[in-house]
Amino acid sequence: MRLVIILFIFGLITAIIARSKGRDFLLWWFYGIFLFPLSLIYAIVVRQKIGPLETMQQKQRRIKCPHCAEMIELDEKRCRSCGRKIDIIDV
Ligand SMILES: [Zn+2]
Repeated sequence: MRLVIILFIFGLITAIIARSKGRDFLLWWFYGIFLFPLSLIYAIVVRQKIGPLETMQQKQRRIKCPHCAEMIELDEKRCRSCGRKIDIIDV
């Protein structure tokens, strides 16, 4: 009975860590109970889940360099490809 409680708590810890990274709480709870300690290690190293909206926002933050047509970040002052200064006019 004590082992069940310990696994239950370990599963909860795994789920809380995974939840903070945008993962499914219940799924990770079961994962934590049955695959502990592997699940805990995975919950720690797993990357933050990026939703489709965030991915789109990241794409929109990229512009074409007027000098070499390379895609660069919107807030970059210099092109990483050709090294020339980028002047962005805010609309
Ligand atoms: Zn460039």
